[in-house]
Amino acid sequence: MLRIVISTGNEYKVREIGEVLKDFDVEVVSKNSLGLNHVEVDEDGHTLEENAIKKARELWKHTGGIVIADDTGLFVKYLKGDPGVHSSRYAGDHANDIENNDLLLKNMRNVEEKDRKAFFKTVIVVIDRNEKIHLSEGICCGKIGIEPKGEHGFGYDSLFIVDGVGKTFAQMSNEEKNKYSHRGKALRKLENIFPEILYETDSNK
Ligand code: IMP
Repeated sequence: MLRIVISTGNEYKVREIGEVLKDFDVEVVSKNSLGLNHVEVDEDGHTLEENAIKKARELWKHTGGIVIADDTGLFVKYLKGDPGVHSSRYAGDHANDIENNDLLLKNMRNVEEKDRKAFFKTVIVVIDRNEKIHLSEGICCGKIGIEPKGEHGFGYDSLFIVDGVGKTFAQMSNEEKNKYSHRGKALRKLENIFPEILYETDSNK
């Protein structure tokens, strides 16, 4: 069975990708499960694409085969795209979710509703057996709430109100979030491009 290695130590992400690829004859594992925890890069790219490609390339050098890496950011219009590629460390290199959320709320204090537009974007990068790079991305549009709402999720979930739904991600079940979310959309696109990666066949030729 072909092994797909994911550039993460987060087993939740591994399960999520494994679920999307379950109909293909592949085994999805994390880099950590192969003892490759030390394979890390500085996420110093200017875009999510750059960071995800950097992570995937570094892992590919150690494993070959097929590897997957992803990167996600929250882009707020009023903040000219911040926190963006720095979403996980908005309030500092070792900041936690609460600190990041507090800083976001502080920076959005007194900003009118019409100026609170934001979107989440996820980029998933696959490097195949021939070292070819494939990209899949997903975007979810919404706005930054005035105060946190909801109990579920992680990161900025309690502050992000999804367009057309009117609820924060933190007010949704996993299943509902997955239907609208940036990651859910990127993962569904990954499922669509995966046969070409697996069978090394370009349908556009
Ligand atoms: P990562 O690239 O998946 O590690 O995401 C980077 C950062 O973006 C995380 O540390 C979170 O702060 C934030 N983030 C990513 N995905 C989500 C999400 O689905 N909801 C809320 N915050 C998220």
